[in-house]
Amino acid sequence: MTRVGIVGGGQLGRMLALAGYPVGIRCITLDPASDSPASQVAPTLVGAYDDLEALDRLAAGADVVTYEFENVPVAAARHVAERVPVFPPPGSLDVAQDRLSEKQRFEAVGLAVPPYRAVGSLADLEESLVQIGTPAVLKTRRLGYDGKGQAVIRDRARSQDAWRAVGEVPSLLESFVDFDAEVSIVAARALDGSVACYPVVQNHHRDGILRLTLAPAPGLTPALQAAAEAHVRAVMADLEYVGVLAIELFLVGDVLLGNEMAPRVHNSGHWTIEGAETSQFEQHLRAVTDRPLGSVGMLGVAAMANLIGSEPSPEAVAAIPGAHLHTYGKAPRPGRKVGHITVRAADIDALEGPLLQVQALLDD
Ligand code: AMP
Repeated sequence: MTRVGIVGGGQLGRMLALAGYPVGIRCITLDPASDSPASQVAPTLVGAYDDLEALDRLAAGADVVTYEFENVPVAAARHVAERVPVFPPPGSLDVAQDRLSEKQRFEAVGLAVPPYRAVGSLADLEESLVQIGTPAVLKTRRLGYDGKGQAVIRDRARSQDAWRAVGEVPSLLESFVDFDAEVSIVAARALDGSVACYPVVQNHHRDGILRLTLAPAPGLTPALQAAAEAHVRAVMADLEYVGVLAIELFLVGDVLLGNEMAPRVHNSGHWTIEGAETSQFEQHLRAVTDRPLGSVGMLGVAAMANLIGSEPSPEAVAAIPGAHLHTYGKAPRPGRKVGHITVRAADIDALEGPLLQVQALLDD
């Protein structure tokens, strides 16, 4: 029996733990909340992410430790790494936690990014707006997620409002990209350096939150898949990465621009539970426990819709052909991801009807 410690007990920790049971991997999670989504399916230690004593207990009960969200303090990950192996390597957390270092690493391995400037003051912002132009997006360098810590600037005269809106903290000003599509690639790298990449998927966001993923991305060409794979391979090699990594990209014409990466399993990979030979959760567990990676072959096509704020009736979902409900055991609250539904079908034509039925159930 292999034991995997997971820092974080949200839905990603829950789905990792569930994926471990059939393949002889027992997960234990650490989370500040006693009723976290993962605590309902796996043993949980209740403690803060920087509670060294709790981290020591996690390390003592695990052969390897991983994490399920990218804002785990790097010092905590390094502390655990002195006791047991930690994958992905804590250095990749360090990079992913700061949008500036993330962009610099993308550029260093040849992944283009939207024009940007680092901003440390209102004066910096005003000067950067002259360079970058409008519209532009101001994003905090740290602790942004699901569109939080961001302000779109359409008019240079409103720079002060944007600076206040992000909390007057170190930020990046980025050119607003008039993209054709938002896509992502989820890939895994094993300890021996082997890599497996899932098909590129298309993502639709609203209010900065992912609503819908289509797998594969409609119109995905072999050239686009190859380009995305080359980028994710380069990023993972640079970070000496082990585990699942996701990169979110903007597609402009046939050019891919790097937006951000997540050093963990990713919402745009949830469709793999039903839609791929090996789910991203099992894949991540395989990678961090030094097992061979599994096949990423698709089983038909899939769409994944997030449940934001409320859950539909399980009976209604069960009545839709090819639809699979995943609830996270979270109290419903406006704007909160409480679950997702994946619809799988043989091809895109067969997917359309069931997907429309699923979307009719969503009340956002
Ligand atoms: P992020 O937290 O950087 O992933 O941003 C959340 C969402 O805001 C993205 O998925 C896009 O829909 C949108 N967004 C972020 N940055 C830009 C940009 N530079 N240009 C256009 N849209 C953006």
